[in-house]
Amino acid sequence: MSKTTSTPMNAAAATTNAADMPWLARQASRLLHQPGHALLLQGPSGLGQFGLALYLARAWLCESRPPDAPAAAPCGHCAGCHAIAVRTHPDLLVLMPEAHQLELGWTVDSGDAADGEAKSTTKRKPSRDIRVDAMRQMITFSQRTDSRGRGKVVLVYPAENMNAVTANALLKTLEEPPGGTRFLLVSDAADRLLPTIRSRCHTWAMQWPDAREAADWLHRHGVAEAQAATLLQIVGGRPLDALALAHSGMNVQDWLNLPQALAQGHAGLLAPLPPAQAVRVLQKLCHDLHSLLAGGAPRYFPPQSLTAWQPATDAPLASTAWAALGQWAQQLAQTARTAEHPLAPELMLASLVEQARNALHWGRRR
Ligand SMILES: [Zn+2]
Repeated sequence: MSKTTSTPMNAAAATTNAADMPWLARQASRLLHQPGHALLLQGPSGLGQFGLALYLARAWLCESRPPDAPAAAPCGHCAGCHAIAVRTHPDLLVLMPEAHQLELGWTVDSGDAADGEAKSTTKRKPSRDIRVDAMRQMITFSQRTDSRGRGKVVLVYPAENMNAVTANALLKTLEEPPGGTRFLLVSDAADRLLPTIRSRCHTWAMQWPDAREAADWLHRHGVAEAQAATLLQIVGGRPLDALALAHSGMNVQDWLNLPQALAQGHAGLLAPLPPAQAVRVLQKLCHDLHSLLAGGAPRYFPPQSLTAWQPATDAPLASTAWAALGQWAQQLAQTARTAEHPLAPELMLASLVEQARNALHWGRRR
């Protein structure tokens, strides 16, 4: 498992096709006729909010209907739909950090994007911020008239990746919206947006797929049925994250074996991971052990991978186990703060494994 947080290119196309995701199609049909000029799609990552936003933009800009007719599903073959597919639609502006453009395979800016910026991505680390130049471009874009007679759309993703300068520029535009421009803000962490931006938007909380829909979608994209349920469990039910994980090459069996491996002092599937990812995996395990100890169900690890651990019935043992898990959770939270740039990654991993082994000692069936 080399990359679990980024979306591999082969999964990228699948993650933007909302028509193929029934849970997104349901939401789209309600949002197409949403009044107002600004819509904020918010919810946890991995549910497809970028695909939903792109679908709405295509529907609004589709030229298969008369300009004044109500929006409907995009036809997929008119000049407008085609221009969006090849990312040259003059009336759609997508504001996305370079790093996300690369992850989604969205390497061409729409409209008259700054070519210099796009080309320079090979020379330095791709930015994770929506750049100030992009926001300036947005202001020019929103002030001119549309080119194809269907209005204009500005799509901002992920909206929380605006810094103070870009967020204020957007806020000004939202406060005095130019006619004929719709704004689509997409966010996995809307609490990090300026409250004044949120209050200018109609907010839509992303809806989750049901388990069957999510598993069927994964299956259609090449994930074996037997693996789909486990992958979904690992990522907390988010189908796009499950697909990214499937494409990352992670062996599901390694995930199932991880608690036992750690209990024996082995790093297991953590070994090749960057420390920050290893910490996130351990936090999931820590969460599940807490849940198990309290008599609840694990969330990320299938129950069969945790059969060696059990709810605490013996009171003194239970309080020791609670203390050990609490300490582990604190250690993980502390490590998470430095895990992005560890001074000595190997030492950090060894210490993570040792902490896990100590914590996993408690609550085991004897
Ligand atoms: Zn069309």
